[in-house]
Amino acid sequence: MAQDGRKHWKHLYEEIVSPEICCGCSACIVACPHKVLELRDFDPVQTDARSPFDNCIHGEEGCSLCAMACLRLEPSLKIIETSLFGERRDETRPEGNYLSKTLARATDERALAKGQDGGAVTALLAHGLDTGTLDGAVVSGPSARVPWLDEPHLVRTSAELLEAAGSRYTYCATPLGLKKAAQAKLRKIALVGVSCESTAVRQLEAEGIKRWVRPVRLVIGLMCCETFDYEAFMIGKIQTGLGIPLTEIEKVNVKGRVIVTLKSGEDVEIPLRDARPYANEWCH
Ligand code: SF4
Ligand code: SF4
Ligand code: SF4
Repeated sequence: MAQDGRKHWKHLYEEIVSPEICCGCSACIVACPHKVLELRDFDPVQTDARSPFDNCIHGEEGCSLCAMACLRLEPSLKIIETSLFGERRDETRPEGNYLSKTLARATDERALAKGQDGGAVTALLAHGLDTGTLDGAVVSGPSARVPWLDEPHLVRTSAELLEAAGSRYTYCATPLGLKKAAQAKLRKIALVGVSCESTAVRQLEAEGIKRWVRPVRLVIGLMCCETFDYEAFMIGKIQTGLGIPLTEIEKVNVKGRVIVTLKSGEDVEIPLRDARPYANEWCH
């Protein structure tokens, strides 16, 4: 236990990582001031040779930022919810508090062409970047090395944003991009992530770990029921099982079933019941 009794990496490892409750959101890695945590296969790993893998000498000396950052260890939901709307959600609003609701579809042709569905998120961010309201956005985007693998991207222009647009339905530790934004000394950024990632940003704010989230002006949370394991689903099911080279895929969408659209224009459909076994285990 740390000198003052606060939880740290030892407890995060024992209570969240080892029992496989961790969703790989990377908030603990972003928060770690001694840079001893790395993400490997979507799990945080303690890399300082002076500590055993399941403990941390800095934690024993009082550091607790990784534990504070983890929304699955002790989520600060009360602070998160009240900081935005002044009150917590109640039973009549299971979807959470909001100022207003709207259905949106982009009118920007670039966003419509490159976005996943209606292109609204892409259009909002493109507008922010084009007008200077934002000087960057942390998003998931396709890896330059591995087809259909998502990686955290920091985009500075709408052209870069459009290159990253679209959903790939595999997990990406997008909050890691907050460190790139800080290194680039950006002051007005947006972050787009699935619910566990967007909430991770709010958890960092709520716990006062502000260094990395200070420039965040906009957080867009994407509705998410599950994401797929890249190796199992993209490589195992689609490439090996169905014989579809990943380089031949134009788009993947989930609309009551998984629809894999090939560059040839052909759609290959996978029933959800056949895809669900490939979901990341931390989602269920
Ligand atoms: S206790 Fe501190 S130094 Fe150790 S892993 Fe956690 S945040 Fe990093
Ligand atoms: S902060 Fe995120 S990555 Fe770190 S242990 Fe918690 S859930 Fe896992
Ligand atoms: S369902 Fe989506 S938001 Fe929830 S843990 Fe899985 S990836 Fe994160």
